[in-house]
Parts: sequence; structure tokens; C-alpha cells
Amino acid sequence: MLRKIINPSVLHNASKYFSTTAVSKNYNFQLNDTQKEFLELSQKFTKEEIIPVAAHYDRTGEYPWPVIKKAWSLGLLNHHIPQSLGGLEFGIFDGCVVSEALAYGCTGIKTALEGSGLGQTPVILAGNKEQQKKYLGRLLEEPLVAAYCVTEPGAGSDVAGVKTKAVKKGNEWILNGTKMWITNGGVANWYFVLARTNPDPKTPASKAFTAFIVEREWPGVTPGRKEINMGQRASDTRMVTFEDVRIPEENVLLGEGAGFKVAMGTFDKTRPAVACGAVGLAHRALDEATKYAMERKAFGKPIAEHQAVAFMLADMAIGVETARLAWMKSAWALDNKDPQGTMLASIAKCYAADVANKCATDAVQIFGGAGFNSEYPVEKLMRDAKIYQIYEGTAQIQRLIISRQIFANAKQGGV
Ligand SMILES: Cc1cc2nc3c(=O)[nH]c(=O)nc-3n(C[C@H](O)[C@H](O)[C@H](O)COP(=O)(O)OP(=O)(O)OC[C@H]3O[C@@H](n4cnc5c(N)ncnc54)[C@H](O)[C@@H]3O)c2cc1C
Repeated sequence: MLRKIINPSVLHNASKYFSTTAVSKNYNFQLNDTQKEFLELSQKFTKEEIIPVAAHYDRTGEYPWPVIKKAWSLGLLNHHIPQSLGGLEFGIFDGCVVSEALAYGCTGIKTALEGSGLGQTPVILAGNKEQQKKYLGRLLEEPLVAAYCVTEPGAGSDVAGVKTKAVKKGNEWILNGTKMWITNGGVANWYFVLARTNPDPKTPASKAFTAFIVEREWPGVTPGRKEINMGQRASDTRMVTFEDVRIPEENVLLGEGAGFKVAMGTFDKTRPAVACGAVGLAHRALDEATKYAMERKAFGKPIAEHQAVAFMLADMAIGVETARLAWMKSAWALDNKDPQGTMLASIAKCYAADVANKCATDAVQIFGGAGFNSEYPVEKLMRDAKIYQIYEGTAQIQRLIISRQIFANAKQGGV
């Protein structure tokens, strides 16, 4: 029946896609010795340095500098920086192993730790030797952080709608505009900034924008107040205003007009890390809810023995395992230059975000009244989970990317 309704060539292409991406690409998620070592280190760090202080930073909204500094000293920050500069040059998969473990402790602190990676990635991808040495090297020398400034008050999902502009004047660019919701906005030492450099509205996005590295201390750079967010409150989110900021030509990344490509290419590298953050949160929700369900009694027995509760936990475990596989597959695919990597990263990010929200909500349910109370850990998980469906591309934008790739695959006769 299905074959009668759907064009058989589409079905053929779809089956070809599944056979090539899922089966025959030698996916291997076995951790090597370095990954195992960093997993153990991150788990220990999470247990000893993040979990004990997570509630404090959530309550106060202070930036967790002591945690950041300790993580920096142990090599848990900046791990994607090239070895030629003294970094670890981690692949995407390597970095995700660390990220999931940190997220288990507190995704607010994890976002504070990793927001810097989002700012660094364009410089790793597109920076020349001098730019990398100056700006990435600085982060290795001292516990400093970077930030990624693309979103604006009037443009988030629609990046091509960015209004911040830079105008060339002699050997400099003059930058004006306002960025919004910038992670590490108030604490970064330098920013990656996307600005429109071709005012002609007919110019395609791929040529209209330029990417810059902008230093926090330059005149005209002003971070706004810290935003009071629903969750992940340890992370510093701010508006950042640029007013007649003079940027030297040498701080242009890749060249005039290449900014959109640099900004978008960054997400390929960073979305699996967002997905694994959501998995860390979901796993924590499962563990907290399991522990509670085995202790809490109702109707003469632990609530874990009521099938409705046990099945909620089973569904949470299904979500954690499958979302973890999704980030692993996407990270592996991107590390191995699989052309489906972008779509797989969107699948992982989108799915893991939904799983995290479901797991956190169900954990609150299993805790009953105590789940709604801030003295217990799960209400924080529920608040922290929501942002995973919003930042680094909303749930809808991920589905847009996935569906576009499905159609492209179908048109091109599969992968
Ligand atoms: C805590 C936090 C940290 C952040 N950190 C950073 C950062 O470090 N750097 C940075 O640049 N940005 C950052 N952001 C911004 C974030 O990436 C954007 O908020 C996000 O991309 C959505 O953009 P928007 O808020 O403008 O929503 P909008 O784009 O206005 O979207 C509003 C709603 O419309 C939907 N929508 C929009 N377009 C479509 C479409 N074509 N089809 C279907 N639905 C659509 C969206 O999915 C959403 O539900 C952060 C945001 C937050 C809240």
C-alpha cells in the first residue's frame, strides 16, 4: 500500500540512506585510553567540584570562577585548541565524553565552562596562525573565557536578519550594534562577533556578513546586566553593545564576507556537545528519581514497586541510552567528515533536548510534592532542561535542518 502512495525511487533512496549511515560505516564508540582517562577525571571533578556547589551557584547566580579556574588547571577547559599552540586538540567525540560527565553535575556550570568553547570554535576553524596564537594562546596561558556573539534582540533563529554592522575605514572596521543572550557576555576576555558588512539587502547571507574577533577591553564594548533566566543560572547571559568599536583588519576571520559560513560551520562542531549536555542532565534525573523511588514508600511499599513509577523510570533509561547513542553517532560522523554529520548533529541535539525535558519532568513527578520544592534536586533539573530546546538552534530549527537534509538526500538518490 505504502509503495503505491510513495514514489518507489524515494523509498529506494531512503533505504539506501539507512543502509549507508547506520550499518556500513564502522561506527565505533569504544572509548580509547585517553577518553577513558578524561572521563574518569571529569566524573571525579563533577563529584568533588561541581555537585557540592551547584545549588549555591543556581541560587546566587554568581559566575562560578573557582570551578572554572580549577577546571582550567586540570585541562578540562579549552580541550579543542590545536596541539601546535599547546592545546589538546580534542575531536568532537573526545570533547563530548568530558561534557556529558560535567553536565551530570550541573548544566549551568557546564554551560559556563563550555560557552567559551563556542566562542573559540570559529577561531579554531577559520583563524590564521597569528589570530590563533594570540587569542587561543591567551586562553591557555590564563583561566580566561571567550564568547560567541551572533544573536540579537531582533534576530535569533533567522541569523541572516542580524543588524549589527561593520563599516571599513582605512585599515579598520567600525562596529555598531547590539547582541543578545550572549553566554559569558559579561566575563569574556574576547568575543567572536558576526556583523553585516554589505548593506545591500540583495546580497546573499553567504556574502553579506563578516566575522570578527573583538576584545572586551576595547572602547565601545559594553556588556549589559546579567539576565535572570529560568535555569542554568550559573551561566552568565547578557546583552553586549558595540558602539563605534574600532577593529583592526587583522581581526577579521577568514576574510570579508565569509562570516555567515564561519558562524554556521561552528554549530556542526558544537551541537553534539550541547546534545551530550542534555544527556548528562537526563541521566542525573534518572539517577535521582531511581534513588528516591527505591526509598520513598506509598501504600506499604517503595514507589519503585508500583509499575506506573517503574515504567516511568524505564522510559527515562530508554531516553538516556538512545540520546547518548545519538550524540555519539553525530560526533563520530563529524569527526570522520561524514556528509550527513550536520543532520546527525541536529538529530542528536533535538532528540537529547526533548529527552532531557521529559526525564526532568518525570523525575519531578516521581518526587511528588518534594519534586516541586527547591530543597530537592529535581526542580532545578526541570528548569535547567528547558534551554536545551532553545539555544544553539531551537527544536523547530533543528527539525528544519533535518527535514531539508532528508529532501536533499531523496533528490540526490540517497547518500
Ligand atoms: C540562556 C541562553 C544562552 C544563549 N547563548 C547564546 C550565545 O552564547 N550566543 C548567541 O549568539 N546566542 C545565544 N543564545 C540565543 C539563542 O541561540 C536564541 O535564543 C535562539 O537561537 C532562538 O532565537 P530567538 O530567541 O530570537 O527566538 P526566535 O528566532 O524569535 O524564535 C521564536 C520561536 O519561533 C520559532 N521559529 C522561528 N523561526 C522558525 C521557523 N522558520 N520555523 C519554525 N519555527 C520557527 C522558534 O523555534 C521559537 O520557538 C542564547 C539564548 C539563551 C536563552
